[in-house]
This record gives sequence, C-alpha cells and structure tokens, in this order.
Amino acid sequence: MTPAASPKPTPKARSKPKPSPEKIARTWAHQLETKRPGLLPFVLDRLAEANGRPVWRPRLDPVSELVLTILTANSADINAEVAFAALRETYPSAPRPPDGALEPQSWPGWGGVGLPDLPAPDWTAVESAPIPELTDVIRPGGLANQKAPRVQAALHALAANGGSHSLEFLRGRPPLEARDWLSAIPGIGKKTASVVLLFSFGTPLMPVDRHVFRVSQRIGLIPEKSDPDAAHDYYLAMLAPEQMYEAHVSLITHGRRTCHARNPDCEHCPVAPRCRYFDPKAE
Ligand code: SF4
Repeated sequence: MTPAASPKPTPKARSKPKPSPEKIARTWAHQLETKRPGLLPFVLDRLAEANGRPVWRPRLDPVSELVLTILTANSADINAEVAFAALRETYPSAPRPPDGALEPQSWPGWGGVGLPDLPAPDWTAVESAPIPELTDVIRPGGLANQKAPRVQAALHALAANGGSHSLEFLRGRPPLEARDWLSAIPGIGKKTASVVLLFSFGTPLMPVDRHVFRVSQRIGLIPEKSDPDAAHDYYLAMLAPEQMYEAHVSLITHGRRTCHARNPDCEHCPVAPRCRYFDPKAE
C-alpha cells in the first residue's frame, strides 16, 4: 500500500492591514450619502428651523474654556459652572466687582445658566494649590477627586509649554495637530480638546458629547455600533469645516430639548420623518 500523499502546503494567507479610523469614516460618509442622500443637511435645516441657526461666537478665554470643560465631564453643566465660579472666587486674578454687577451670559447649547463675563481665575494659584484644598473648592461640580488633579495637570502642561497659562499658540494651527496636542495632556480626550478649540478659536472640529452621540445614533447619522470616540472621526468626514459649530450646537440643543435619553419627544420632532429610531425604514 502506498502512503497517502501529504497535503500541499498552502502559502500563509497575508493579513490585510487594518484600515485607519479616517478611512473607515470616509467610507461610512460615502455609504451614508449613497443610501440616504442629503440626510445631514436635512437634519441641520430642520433643526435650524426649530431652534435657529447657531452662529459662532467665543464664550470664555481659552484656558477658562479648557478648565470649565474638564469640570463638565460626567457632571451637569449647571454644577460645573458653580465649581468654576468657586475657582474665580477663591483664586481671583482681579478685584471682585460689586454684587449683582454682572448677569450670567447664556450660551447656545449650554445646559447651565451661563457665567458672568469676569476675568479668569489666577491660574498660577490654582496650579499650585494643595490638592485637598482645590478638591474642596470644586466639590460642588461633582467628581472633584478626579477633576482637581486633571485641572492641575492641564495647567502644568500649559506652563511647561511656554512658561505661561495660555493656549494662544494653538490658534490657527491645523485642527488635528491642535487636537492631538491638547489630548496628549492626561485626562483630556478628543471631546474636551475639540470643545476648547471650536469654542475658543473657531477651529473646525466636531465635539461629540453624550447628547450629540445619542441623537446621531438614533437618526442613523453614525453607525449603530460606533462609540463616541469614533464618532468624532465620522463627523470630520461628513461635515464641511463651516458646518461643525452649527452641527455641534444644533444636535446638543436637540438632545437637551427634544431627543431626551429617556422618552424622546418623537411626536414633536422636526427630524422624525428621517429618523431610524422613529421609523426603522426611514430613508
Ligand atoms: S424622532 Fe425621536 S428619536 Fe428621532 S431624533 Fe427625533 S426625538 Fe430623537
């Protein structure tokens, strides 16, 4: 009996390189436009009819924007503003104005009442404050034990960069380069970096917070299985630079007013005709 011929060795299958997040996002943007043409402009137009079309204007100075955004992480905006006001009060950089002299400025898309237009806290004092003290000051904002070291880490990074607490060097920088610089600071993610750059300098970046993410997934603007981090890339592939501020503010406002996490008010929603949560077959 002749022995059975051993199987011919097959060449090892070459594993394909994984596509980059940017490539995946461009592919998604193309597929969405092919399968559901004009969806994003439809959503933005309907939301603009309902809530007005947001126009960019700066809110706070860039370092205040950074610290306030750190304070809002997993906290209600209204609590973050109380914590930020406490920083101004405890570490003042200018004499305190008379009580009641300044009304809070409200901001589009913001969930609190806004803050008075006052000078930033003394960042050197905040940076060098003992952690237990700083934690107590910002306690009303929630998660103070995590946030106090994050605030100081951010201030250390700024001071180490040029000796002062300033972000002006990021003005006009290419958006992703500026975002990478900020998100290299411990505790700063894509969302915080994008908020700071978009609101302070008008840098075309699209911050995706929990409201934007929820609304986007329900409508079907981003893939069902994406996560908030990846959603940043999807939006950069889908939006023109001049649409990013409008998209962020309009979607966040819609999430706060209508598309609530529980019980979204679909009956009164202007984008319902094209929302996959409302109608799984919506085009
Ligand atoms: S139809 Fe409902 S789920 Fe869809 S965006 Fe509107 S409120 Fe949200």
